[in-house]
Amino acid sequence: MYLHIIGSGAGGSPGSKRWRAANLLETDGGLVVVDCGVGCHYRLSDRGLLTEIDYVFVTHSHMDHFLGLPEALFQAHIEGRRKRLVVVAPKIVARTIEAASPHLLKNINYQLEIRPAAPGPLLELSGLRVEAAQACHHTAEEAYAYRVESGASLVFTGDTSPNCEPVRRLSRGVDVLVHEATCNEQNAGVCSKYGHTTTLQAIAEADAVGARLLVLTHIDEGFNPTVHKDVERTGRKDVIVAEDNMWLRI
Ligand SMILES: [Zn+2]
Repeated sequence: MYLHIIGSGAGGSPGSKRWRAANLLETDGGLVVVDCGVGCHYRLSDRGLLTEIDYVFVTHSHMDHFLGLPEALFQAHIEGRRKRLVVVAPKIVARTIEAASPHLLKNINYQLEIRPAAPGPLLELSGLRVEAAQACHHTAEEAYAYRVESGASLVFTGDTSPNCEPVRRLSRGVDVLVHEATCNEQNAGVCSKYGHTTTLQAIAEADAVGARLLVLTHIDEGFNPTVHKDVERTGRKDVIVAEDNMWLRI
């Protein structure tokens, strides 16, 4: 399985160094996109994959996690997509896509199936299994973490506070934990107020679930400008900081 970090940023990330949240997994059971923030269609299109992706899972309805999706659906159509696409998302995301692109949904040349996200198993194929759990992100009406298994296992927490029991249960023994780290410790108060996690809290979560590797993402450089230094200070070799266009073989 390969992980391509398309966007490692957060809602408030300034400039273009860190794009909004988006990830691509190449699994034995298909191509899986998790979140599709603004710009995600450019990097999928660069790789010729807008016509090829099989599933899109959206963690929650905050703009930095899905606003690129209507554009990606449209551009896939333009690029000649014929293959069915399954989008699994909170209900409000489905409604927003329908409102943003009524002309697209009427004229689309491929089958688009939008399924509501819910806790529990969502996909069970040979070579690909996806399960969801509720994340602790009180500022969104629905928020999910997703566990993907395809040989190895990987969890995307999406946005969440630490000590989130459903996310911990989902993540137990996972090979790779892709955890949000919106803030550094100096900004822990901001993170706690908005339902996010700091760098050191994310490391503690990885330890609590026994993850083999921790990938810190959803970095808001306004609130977490010290993430590299803070990770370095821990001396941990099993913690890495996501960057846009980073690839990992899992
Ligand atoms: Zn959020």
